[in-house]
Formats: sequence, structure tokens, C-alpha cells
Amino acid sequence: MTHFALRDGILHVENVALEDIAARFGTPCYVYSRATLADAYLAYRQALEGVNAQVCYAVKANSNLAILNLFADFGAGFDIVSGGELARVLVAGGDPGKILFSGVGKSRAEMEDGLEVGIRCFNIESASEMEKLNEVAHANGARAPVSLRVNPNIDAKTHPYISTGLRTTKFGVPIEDAHALYRRAAELPGLKITGIDCHIGSQLLDPAPAAEAAAKVVELADELAADGIMVEHLDLGGGMGISYREDKVPTVAEYLAPVLAVLKGRNEQLMFEPGRSMVGNAGLLLTRVETLKHGAEKNFAVVDAAMNDLMRPALYDAWHDIVKVSRGDTPSETQTYDIVGPICESGDFLGQARSLALAEGDLLAVMSAGAYGMAMSSNYNSRPRAAEVMVDGADIHLIRRREEVTELFAAESLLP
Ligand SMILES: *Cc1c(COP(=O)(O)O)cnc(C)c1O
Repeated sequence: MTHFALRDGILHVENVALEDIAARFGTPCYVYSRATLADAYLAYRQALEGVNAQVCYAVKANSNLAILNLFADFGAGFDIVSGGELARVLVAGGDPGKILFSGVGKSRAEMEDGLEVGIRCFNIESASEMEKLNEVAHANGARAPVSLRVNPNIDAKTHPYISTGLRTTKFGVPIEDAHALYRRAAELPGLKITGIDCHIGSQLLDPAPAAEAAAKVVELADELAADGIMVEHLDLGGGMGISYREDKVPTVAEYLAPVLAVLKGRNEQLMFEPGRSMVGNAGLLLTRVETLKHGAEKNFAVVDAAMNDLMRPALYDAWHDIVKVSRGDTPSETQTYDIVGPICESGDFLGQARSLALAEGDLLAVMSAGAYGMAMSSNYNSRPRAAEVMVDGADIHLIRRREEVTELFAAESLLP
């Protein structure tokens, strides 16, 4: 994370001191580095140099318009999972022709919206959804471009909540059933078969399961071709992990090499749907210590960010490094703290048993919070959502202002 560094004991994002951001925009606040986002996209482009491939950023990881706009300008496509994400991508200048629509429960309205703007492909996740999309397209005089999301029954060996490639998950169709379903799709007048799709999980650090999945996708493509069903693209999904606390994680090139080896010489265009690896290390959550509670059993540092701002520790027991933003004015000794938020839940923690020298008022940075951070935030406990700031060199851009409390209940009404 070269664009996040201590200078004279003060944590900077690119050329901006985090203290200055806290002073201007308050806390909690998400802070992103534009250069790190650019590096992440470039890493994919370089790893895919000379390969007919399209990178479709998975919007759900972080859907801020400024971030989508940045990736759209770079030429990225987008993987979306809702009509809301479709609207965001279009407003942010995304090319509809590079949009993939994933998700197990697309509504008819969402299907119509996708058809109307001419998205690249619907990733179909069940036989029933396939019939529904056919009806919707046919009724609208259209042919919907489709891939079937196949489930290769591979254990991605990640957290069970983010493992999606096993038979027991709700995602995709069993790969054994795929051929019959493709045959059915080929008969439906509202569908045009364009690809095969697969996504086995998230925060994957070992490329072997991804390469294994790619091999199964290739096998299916050949089987379909032998049956006269040709596909234009192979979509290998996303899932590449990032460094949260691991010492050594593969680079994008290292991760993709075994996958690309399996796909070498194919005529189909390759699609990738990275989310976390595009944005995760590019953002942090800036928060201030409100209260220190020293107890017989435990010490708590209560900060002004909480599980509603960053849910990953509570939801997945995820680890985020937590560092002091500056040495601080008040001398303090190093102690072991649970870093917790003000929310009324025991699961409301950002980190546990962290060795830190803290004083009330200190600023902390919760690192690697760019993915599934703000995107998963909520208003639980009627907490307005955090501001988001993008740093570009020495420039600071507010890309989402802090919510106002009145906005939280603006859609509600009193009984008459
Ligand atoms: C979530 C998701 C992705 C992105 O996963 P990451 O682990 O963030 O790279 C890609 N494709 C689909 C279908 C997804 O659901």
C-alpha cells in the first residue's frame, strides 16, 4: 500500500495528512487513494496484456459514483447485481455494452431495465430465471444475451459466508445440469446464448481453485460446441483476495497466471469480475477515539465508527489493521484494547486485542476498508452514514457528504 505511508509520524494518503481530512470533514470518514485504485485496475490490464479480456468491476464492493466513474474512464465494464447498481453505473458514465447482470433473484422490472439499455449479458442462476427472462425479452420484442452461472462444486477454502462455488450454496446451477439447460436456452426465442459464467467465492488467495473452475468451464464450452452451441465469452468471475494481515498475497499477475494457462489459445473473450481486489486496499476508515474504558478484564477504546460503518469484523470476524494516525499530543502507554463502536450490540467491534498507546481524541485508521465497507453500511442505531473522500495527489475531493440525521427518516410518516 505504497500510497498510505507515515511521514514524520503522521499517516498520509498520497500527499494529504489524514489529520487534515478529519479537521475538514469530521469522522467517521472513508478515505480513498485515487492512485491506488488506478494501480489496481492497471494490474489487471497488465496481467491480461495480449489477452482478449474484459475487466468488469463488481459494483457491490464499493458503488460510490466517483469510483465507478474512474473505472469507466479507464475502460472497465461492470458486474451488477441489482437495478440500483445499474442506475449507478449509467449515471457514472459506464458503457451498457460492458455490463454483466449477476444475481439469483432478478425481478422482471430489472430484466426489462437491462434489456432496454442493452447490457452485455445476463448471468442466469436458475432454470426458472431463464424461463422468466425469456418471457420478459420475448414480450418486449428483444433477445436477451445470456450466460449460465455454473457451479463447479469447488471448495474455494474461504469464509463460508463468501464461498459460493459449492453445491450447498444458493448460487448458480450445478455444472452437471448445465448442458441440458443450454439446450433449453437454445430453443427459447427470447434468449441468445453468449457465454458461460462462474464465480466460486471471495477473498481467495490460492489460485488453484480458480484454475480448477476455469478448466471445468473450458470443458463445458467444448462439450457445448460439440453440440453446436457456441459461446462468445467465458466469465471467470471475481474473488481474488487482498492483504488484510497476511504477509504474502499473490499479485494479480501471479493469481491469474494459472487461470490464464488453462485458457490459453481459446477463441472466446475472457471476462473477469473483480471487486475486492480493485478497491479493498485503496480505502481506509478514519475514526476518532471518543472514550477509553479501562477494566479489570479488558480495555475498550470506544471510537466514533461502528459496525454500521464497517460491518466486516462483526459479520465475518474479519481482521483489519488499526493504526494510529499520529503520535498524538497526550503521552500514553501501550495497552491491549478492543476497538469498539457506540452501537448497542456486543458484536460491534472493529478490532479485538490490539496493542496501542491511546488517548481520548486520537485519530485511528482502520486499514484496507475500501471493499465491502461503505457499500455494506447501514443506519442502524439511527447513525448517519460516514462521509467519503477521495485523495488525488495533494487534492482532496468530497465524493459523498456525511448524511444528515433528518435524511434518515425523511421517507417516514406519522400516523394521521
Ligand atoms: C461479489 C461478486 C464478485 C466480486 O467478488 P470479489 O471477491 O469482491 O472480487 C464477482 N462476481 C459475482 C457474481 C459476485 O457476486
